[in-house]
Amino acid sequence: MGRDRQAQTVMQTRLLLHDAQAAGFSVEVVDGYLDVKGPPERGDIMSEIKAHKAEIADIISHPEGIGQYADRLRKGIDWLEICFQRVLDDPFNQRMIDAMSRNLHRWADLDEELRQVFPEFRGCPIDGCKDTAPVRCLHCSNL
Ligand SMILES: [Zn+2]
Repeated sequence: MGRDRQAQTVMQTRLLLHDAQAAGFSVEVVDGYLDVKGPPERGDIMSEIKAHKAEIADIISHPEGIGQYADRLRKGIDWLEICFQRVLDDPFNQRMIDAMSRNLHRWADLDEELRQVFPEFRGCPIDGCKDTAPVRCLHCSNL
């Protein structure tokens, strides 16, 4: 599929999703499947959604522009994990503890900002936070 064609499909899918939400539909991705609830009299929209299941699921899970946030969050969590290990090795290193706590807050703020900018996003921006991570995203910490 060409780039333009792909961009067009994304736009049409966003439009469909917008219309569906305006008509009272709730469209979510649950365990990789599309979960759709909506007014039964709008079978027209429902069949449009069914015809574009894969595209809609893709948009909800990976909105455009989310990549920038994901990159920053991934780099951030890598740094925090190293930092966390250093604090465990050297628990009286106050400078390291301060830096870590500042950046833990920054990381959580960035995750929150992402969800305000992309309200349709429901998943984990870094494809699954580790249980052992010093901080986890809103999605993973609510699982
Ligand atoms: Zn997560």
